[in-house]
Amino acid sequence: MNAEIIAVGSELLLGQIANTNAQFISKELADIGVNVFYHSVAGDNENRLSSVIQTARSRSDLLIFTGGLGPTKDDLTKETIAKLFQKELVHDEAALEYITNYFVQTNREMTPNNKKQALIIEGSAVLPNDNGMAPGMAFTQGNNTCILLPGPPSEMRPMFNNYVIPFLYSKMDVQTKFHSRVLKFFGIGESVLETKLQDLIEKQSNPTIAPLASEHEVTIRLTASHHSETEAKRLLDEVEQEVLSRTGSYFYGYDDETLESQTFDLLRDNKLTIASAESLTGGLFSKIITDFPGASSVYLGGAVVYSSALKQSMLKVPQTLITDHGVVSSQCAEWMAEEIKKQTKSDIGISFTGVAGPDAQEDKPAGTVFIGISIHDQTYSYAIKLAGSRKGIRERAVKHGFRFLNQ
Ligand code: ATP
Ligand code: MG
Repeated sequence: MNAEIIAVGSELLLGQIANTNAQFISKELADIGVNVFYHSVAGDNENRLSSVIQTARSRSDLLIFTGGLGPTKDDLTKETIAKLFQKELVHDEAALEYITNYFVQTNREMTPNNKKQALIIEGSAVLPNDNGMAPGMAFTQGNNTCILLPGPPSEMRPMFNNYVIPFLYSKMDVQTKFHSRVLKFFGIGESVLETKLQDLIEKQSNPTIAPLASEHEVTIRLTASHHSETEAKRLLDEVEQEVLSRTGSYFYGYDDETLESQTFDLLRDNKLTIASAESLTGGLFSKIITDFPGASSVYLGGAVVYSSALKQSMLKVPQTLITDHGVVSSQCAEWMAEEIKKQTKSDIGISFTGVAGPDAQEDKPAGTVFIGISIHDQTYSYAIKLAGSRKGIRERAVKHGFRFLNQ
């Protein structure tokens, strides 16, 4: 099977955005042994898109499109493909219901062109969009398989991992079945991780080892090809063991697990309740933990105590502590964690205090963060140093918090 990736969008040709979708998809396909022979880009123009598709279908088996699935007039990927493959566009009931519900729930008016997003090419498999409205789709005609994906990377990537990969596996012959396993890491950068695994990556053949940086985390996908599932598993186990022997302490989970979901499950399964006192993270911990359905059985609530005055009045942080150590200190973090635990009668109190930047505070540079954790009668804190933007520092501080709760 050889593939061609066709990105649709005039903004790509105008240089307003880079074609990161093609890059992502190429890398993923390489991991599962699918050859990518061509990348094409077409603007939002039916004639030129048609001519790109004509060429592509004559030289490639698998055509993967990204972009142009939206509701507006310039989104014409589906329409153009349907015409060339002589297929109708039909309403997909499930997609229509999903979109309608979305508008009802958000109390917004649905315009007729939003309905367009529920149109699919007849006979295609619908690929659910877990992060947006326009579903993807896949169909095979003659020698060609076409896969249509939305343009925004935040929608396209999860759709690719969760639905396109399984779809492609189902089309591959058993002899060349690929088995993959994703290892997830936090607290280590992609380049450091890669350096630790350099020799393994260089001599890799089966399984292949592919590191990928995602938001503040790094993942490694191991892919083994073997006709026997047991043997593939053994190959994966072997490399995994070697990878983990070098990177063990940064490893936290597999496949769809996230640091946050893992911690949440751990608290829930152990029937532990938690409350938070947040300074530099401004409620981000609270936001993320309440994203989980059933959060109320775990998370009691918390306080955003941004100013020193509020830390004193709400959390009774003593003036002497502030004078001696500052609010950006392990002492303050521990006090906050213990106090919020006491006030809310939770099992665990967690606190975040630090310098989000860009300026220093109390002579402490941006990225200085203290996380306090108080569990039953024990209280301790972690000092971490983060680099990057204000946004990145806040987000990573929260991730570290989840990581510490997990240990
Ligand atoms: P929407 O419903 O958001 O309009 P769509 O499927 O119609 O989605 P486009 O309108 O083509 O997609 O693109 C939406 C956005 O997705 C673009 O503005 C851009 O930010 C991003 N995007 C599109 N194509 C690519 C690409 N090839 N690489 C990276 N980003 C892309
Ligand atoms: Mg669009």
